[in-house]
Amino acid sequence: MEHEMRAEYAEGAGPGAPVKIWHMVRRETATAMCGRELSPDAETRTAEVWGTPEGEPFCHTCGALYLREVP
Ligand SMILES: [Zn+2]
Repeated sequence: MEHEMRAEYAEGAGPGAPVKIWHMVRRETATAMCGRELSPDAETRTAEVWGTPEGEPFCHTCGALYLREVP
């Protein structure tokens, strides 16, 4: 399963605004693993950034689910 990180912004904000929290999504989708609907325009990051300062703050629910899918 291919994953990537997708940004959630503050209410009404979009790409370019400070990232409120990062979620994990399955590649090419805009629904986070925790169920949150994210903007298809939101910034994405490779899943390799997960767990590094660049990937913070990160959604804890997504983190737990991601750990279960990735060995
Ligand atoms: Zn999430």
